[in-house]
Amino acid sequence: METILAIDIGGTHQRFAEISLTGDILEKNTYQSHPHISSEEFFEILRKRISDRLKKTSFLGVAVALPVLMPVLMNEKVGNNSVQDAPNLPFLVGVDLAQSFSFLSVPWIVENDANCALLGEAWLGEGQKESSFCCLTLGTGIGSGLFLNGKLWKGVRGMASEMGHLKIDFLGNTPCTCGGQGCLEAFASATALQKKTGYTAQELYGMACRRESLALHAFEQMGESLGRGIGSVANLLNIDLFILAGRLSQAFEFFYPSCIRVAKESAMKGPRQHLKIVQSKLGDDAGLLGAAWLIKKKFQL
Ligand code: ADP
Ligand code: MG
Ligand code: ZN
Repeated sequence: METILAIDIGGTHQRFAEISLTGDILEKNTYQSHPHISSEEFFEILRKRISDRLKKTSFLGVAVALPVLMPVLMNEKVGNNSVQDAPNLPFLVGVDLAQSFSFLSVPWIVENDANCALLGEAWLGEGQKESSFCCLTLGTGIGSGLFLNGKLWKGVRGMASEMGHLKIDFLGNTPCTCGGQGCLEAFASATALQKKTGYTAQELYGMACRRESLALHAFEQMGESLGRGIGSVANLLNIDLFILAGRLSQAFEFFYPSCIRVAKESAMKGPRQHLKIVQSKLGDDAGLLGAAWLIKKKFQL
């Protein structure tokens, strides 16, 4: 059977999966990410993990979802395109990805992780029947992808849709990993929750399940921030559907009520009418599936 090796790299987790052309995940491994290593060490580990798998299986191609901004859709034919921003894996800034992946002897592709999650949702998730929608990945940071008129919107230079760095607060001076202040990510990511409460998002989820008020309050506030961002984007684009993926979206039931309330308060009467915010059913797999889809598309399969 022809299969694809899909890799989704985040600030907290790295996921490797063997995926069939119909989107079945045949094998999956998850590893911890190490945010404080050098890019050389990072690629050495990555190369080893990929090479081990390539020895056992002849993949059609390798697709890598990375939490970075890069100037164009990368593939093996494009060079001289270095990473511009990587708030959650800062050692990747300046890295020439075409060169870093040149060790691969099979076709490969690299795409922004949230764009991959969006494509996964469009292929097999909540976005299947939608011509336009937004997907947010809630994890270490906040990524987002835009599907407009049936296509991934990449922006003029390939770096569109950084909703995590939409400014939602101008009064305080909450610093963000991007170097700016007042960004959505600084209020509604797992990193932000942990900074604020001293507990990881996963711990807060457990506490919220036990109805502990500290956690319930933290998720309520997180939902409000997210709602502010979503409401603004609804005004800008008149998109009805926002899909929430990433591990932090597992706490959906706790932040959704304040999120939809504030999103509707923030959006104008017209754009808010059909506004829907839903939890991804693909969960952790959205990015892997979208990455795999890019290889499928490359071969027109
Ligand atoms: P990334 O792609 O950035 O590596 P993930 O999507 O894997 O991130 O999300 C990791 C974050 O999700 C961690 O900060 C963890 O605390 C949080 N997390 C894991 N499980 C849950 C849960 N059930 N509810 C809320 N947050 C969770
Ligand atoms: Mg991720
Ligand atoms: Zn920012």
